[in-house]
Amino acid sequence: MEGAPRAHESSPDRARKTPSQPYLAVLGAPGSGKSTQARILSEQLQIPRLSTGDRLRAEVAGRSELGRRVEETIARGELVPDEVIVAAVRHWLRAPDLEGGFVLDGFPRTLGQAVALDREMENLNRSLDLVLHLRVPTDEVLRRLAVRRAEHQTPGEGSASGRRVDDLPEVARRRIEAYLQDSAPLLDHYRARGILAEIDGAGPVEETSERMMAAVAGATGGPRTPPPCC
Ligand code: AMP
Repeated sequence: MEGAPRAHESSPDRARKTPSQPYLAVLGAPGSGKSTQARILSEQLQIPRLSTGDRLRAEVAGRSELGRRVEETIARGELVPDEVIVAAVRHWLRAPDLEGGFVLDGFPRTLGQAVALDREMENLNRSLDLVLHLRVPTDEVLRRLAVRRAEHQTPGEGSASGRRVDDLPEVARRRIEAYLQDSAPLLDHYRARGILAEIDGAGPVEETSERMMAAVAGATGGPRTPPPCC
């Protein structure tokens, strides 16, 4: 992501962006509910969601060159190498519909990816407004993954049924361990920049999404979700 000229902080384009169309990223362990919450943010704020997991699975299903390259890594529950995912995201971020705000789901996952994203956003004359980190205890995450597995499992069916290969118990545990190891420096990075919001994601979906919306409103000056009445 090197090479392109750096945009100036006070450029007119950046000043024109409305806070109701923020650039957001949702971080969280597998099973933390990050995709559910990213979908809700996307709907409520009317901004597209870019899920790197969904995009990669589509590449695998379509047997593209990228898909063939990452298939085994995904099935093992490991992270795709930074240079591979960064190149793909760099391409995806240039889609015109992502110009006016977006919510990233599943990216960045390592400090290297975060640094690469910062550079790319600067090249595009954008900057992340807020990074929302969903905090859910590991036991609860494992329980949710077991439920997801049971919901998708019918005798004799494989991954084509919609069941995710990477939800198998041993793979799920590996993914959580990888997440815990890789996310710590990433969280420090955003904390130091003052754009990290820690969100309690252990409770019901609706409560968590209210916290997410309140955090976004607080960070961007956008409209707040009204408090529950009476
Ligand atoms: P997800 O649906 O976000 O849990 O992603 C599913 C799988 O896709 C992950 O376990 C990784 O193998 C791969 N993947 C998705 N996003 C990334 C990323 N940012 N960095 C590396 N690998 C990723």
